[in-house]
Amino acid sequence: MTEPLERLPDGTVKQVNPFTGTKVWTLPDRGARPMMRTLPTPLPLNPADHDRYCAFCWGRMLDTTPEIARLVRTADGWAEVRGLLAEELHTSVPEFRVIPNLFEILSYDYWHLSHGWHATAHSDARRTAYLSTPLGREQVSGLVRAKLLARGVPEAALAGRTFEDDMRDSIEFFASNHDVVIARRHYLDGATVDTQLSGSGTLSAEEHWQYVRFTIEAARQLYADNPFARYVSIFQNWLSSAGASFDHLHKQLVAIDELSVQTEREAARVREEPELYARWGEGYAAEQGLVVARAPSAVAFAGVGHRYPSIEIHSRNPSALPWELDDDQVRDFADLLHACHAATGVDVPTNEEWHHRPPSLDLRMPVRAVIKWRISTLAGFEGDTKIYVNTIDPWTVRDRVVVRLKELADEGALSPSVTVIG
Ligand SMILES: [Zn+2]
Repeated sequence: MTEPLERLPDGTVKQVNPFTGTKVWTLPDRGARPMMRTLPTPLPLNPADHDRYCAFCWGRMLDTTPEIARLVRTADGWAEVRGLLAEELHTSVPEFRVIPNLFEILSYDYWHLSHGWHATAHSDARRTAYLSTPLGREQVSGLVRAKLLARGVPEAALAGRTFEDDMRDSIEFFASNHDVVIARRHYLDGATVDTQLSGSGTLSAEEHWQYVRFTIEAARQLYADNPFARYVSIFQNWLSSAGASFDHLHKQLVAIDELSVQTEREAARVREEPELYARWGEGYAAEQGLVVARAPSAVAFAGVGHRYPSIEIHSRNPSALPWELDDDQVRDFADLLHACHAATGVDVPTNEEWHHRPPSLDLRMPVRAVIKWRISTLAGFEGDTKIYVNTIDPWTVRDRVVVRLKELADEGALSPSVTVIG
């Protein structure tokens, strides 16, 4: 294997991702560019918009698809609530909700026609119950029509549709293969200006752990409900320049019937070298001084060979599926992810991409996540050469993250399980 990380005499850093083979160069003069985008001028928030800033805000729950489940805080701790009807959505405050994506990547028809997949009996029962109330029917009818309009169906054609047509077309809102996990807050509680967004790193470590746990449960459910799902892609786009529709914290889970291109590549490498992740993940990061933090069963380090400056969080459990991690292992993984988001800051657009062993493969592929700082734009050079220019090399990423992690640890903002390295 080529050396993943190499500094040339002029200061150019060449990287090859040890898992995917992606080639990245960091050129010394370009690295001096400032990292943060120009921050917008803070504008005052209108108190009348409270909890209604976007369609993911909990004051607008009827604007989203019918909820699958929510996490609420009770006197006895966190509790999951499922099966609420439209009239019951405001009987508790959801800290996190999981809902079907209104504009799913692979439709119900895709799964039904390509694979003969049907909605589960549970999902059919849920649909019948939800559509048994006036508000549920009104909500779902509105969503079906909004979706048809967005697809270019003329308004005149909608007028001719019957209520039964809408109800028949609502199946995809209950038999979902593309879910969204939404956090309660759009802005920080008590925020007065629109730059005070609530992101992964501004949640408390405990809230973030619950967010991760809830996401893992949603992934387990997607696999369980669809035997043709070979992989469930889990990711979080933060801010519009990272692909988010709303500046409101959420993750997405998408079931697909093939393995991702990256997973195929990585699986081929793991077959040749079963300890690939341990050796070229934590092992290589430690050798190169790239580790930023550890928790008892997980490690975070500046990633090598990514198109954007990146931090990787790897579980040390070598092959467990996300829902096979025990409580402490989920907590460690979540805590490091939280710490790295907090160190990144809510102003930086990020993608958080999870990877896990596809259940059909018996290989040592740990649960891991990559946080990518979307601070540069790919251009013609990259398209032409497939060599990516990344403005910050991994050592510099490590330095910046560690400085901030130490401050956050001193402020008590990180979970006690997190040990900052360096
Ligand atoms: Zn919102």
